[in-house]
Amino acid sequence: MAAAFETPALGEYPVIPLVREGAMAHSKPFVAKAEHQKPLGFPGELAPGWEKVAVTKLGELVSQSRALQVFLDSCVKCGACTDKCHYYLGTGDPKNMPVARQDLLRSVYRRYYTFAGKHFPKLVGARDMTKEVLDDWYSYFHQCSQCRRCSVFCPYGIDTAEVSMAARDVMDAVGLGQKYSNEIIGKVHKIGNNLGLPGPALRDTLDGLEEDVKEATGVDVRFPLDEKGAEVLLITPSADFFAEPHIDGLIGYAKVFHAAGISWTLSTHASEAANFSLFIGNHDNLQKVAERIREAALELGVKRIVVGECGHAWRVAYSFWNTLIGPFDFLDPRYPAPQHICEVTHELIQRGALTLDKSGNAGKVVTFHDSCNVSRASRMGGVPGGQFTIPRDIIRACVEKFVDMAPETIGETTFCCGGGGGLLTDDLVELRVKGALPRMQALQTVVDEHGVNYLAAICAICKSQFTKVLPYYKHPMDMIGSVHGLVSNAIVLGTKQ
Ligand code: SF4
Ligand code: SF4
Repeated sequence: MAAAFETPALGEYPVIPLVREGAMAHSKPFVAKAEHQKPLGFPGELAPGWEKVAVTKLGELVSQSRALQVFLDSCVKCGACTDKCHYYLGTGDPKNMPVARQDLLRSVYRRYYTFAGKHFPKLVGARDMTKEVLDDWYSYFHQCSQCRRCSVFCPYGIDTAEVSMAARDVMDAVGLGQKYSNEIIGKVHKIGNNLGLPGPALRDTLDGLEEDVKEATGVDVRFPLDEKGAEVLLITPSADFFAEPHIDGLIGYAKVFHAAGISWTLSTHASEAANFSLFIGNHDNLQKVAERIREAALELGVKRIVVGECGHAWRVAYSFWNTLIGPFDFLDPRYPAPQHICEVTHELIQRGALTLDKSGNAGKVVTFHDSCNVSRASRMGGVPGGQFTIPRDIIRACVEKFVDMAPETIGETTFCCGGGGGLLTDDLVELRVKGALPRMQALQTVVDEHGVNYLAAICAICKSQFTKVLPYYKHPMDMIGSVHGLVSNAIVLGTKQ
């Protein structure tokens, strides 16, 4: 595989690298053009006086978010976070230490919004907002996948993801946006999904899936679209319609609904679970993208909203939908609003409503990658830790052999896949490959010791990221799969009510 960088060598976890000053200073995503900025309400490019706009925007964000202010004021430089970021572990660049990343913004905050920074800037490491500082922000705040792992180890709970979101919000406000995220958000505003896939093309895709499943199983499993009066509106990442292995997950959801006799539908108006506005830290766009889902649910008259396998979408749904687009008093109160597809499948398995035959996954030795946003920013099943046990219970019900990776690399302390937070773009492939190192090290151990040959995940970004980076670490790209792809292989259709 041709690459202009070296894939890090796998060693035993943990490997804390020597500091390599400036090792990733060259890493920057493509800048959004005016056509990608303006539909989101941002200036098209940097204009004279942008420094004042940036400082004012930063002040607004700090005054709106007590959490952000506490994060900026309370770091004691204890160093507990320094070796916890996968991008530091994979690159050795000291600016990828979470505390150093925070300081890029904290130094500007101090200069303009603290007494000491205003009067004795050099003493407290305060800096003016300059183009040089902005360029550093653009590079290193796009080397944070907003995974929140560092916050687990910080004695004050300082969340670098929030700092990174604030920095990106400020950059958008002055006209320096990231092409990948902003172009995608624009497509959702205009068409309803990240892919820019119009309704007729979506219908064609779903028809094709119905034919494929009929051919494979002999059963008429439906993939309904815009069906009024369905019980469930399924909101799933648009990658589920096309990408591998995501599509196997969508087939799995359809088979679960079919086997359980639950009527469901997708929506052309809200054909996307992903909400990249989270990554750019912009509340207005976050709300606008989410609003389509409420509109679709009301228009279709559904009783439940179920979210497919997408990590950050589940965070937005679980943590923010209620205040962004609630209340959900028009939905059936007997079900959580919203509900995760894993909660649906798990509950059906628990009460014996699905028949699962493990031989459908014969030969698979499976491990599970906990996705960051699910692990550290949401729950499932209404119980602490349900987000960890529920997907594993489903996998165990579908396969003969399941093995977990090392405990410090899963659950609440899971490592990011390396491509989250708006970094899943080819202009950042070096960062993505290097940032995947800790996960790849943990994976290699269970491959060597237990013969693991299938890495399951419940996040569309993780699946795409692993498809890309697994070959760099000498694993087949199809080693990554959907949890509901395993369900799809194991489920016996048409035998239970
Ligand atoms: S949030 Fe994740 S990617 Fe960002 S600094 Fe912390 S550990 Fe690194
Ligand atoms: S662990 Fe928390 S307090 Fe310590 S250096 Fe990191 S961010 Fe600062």
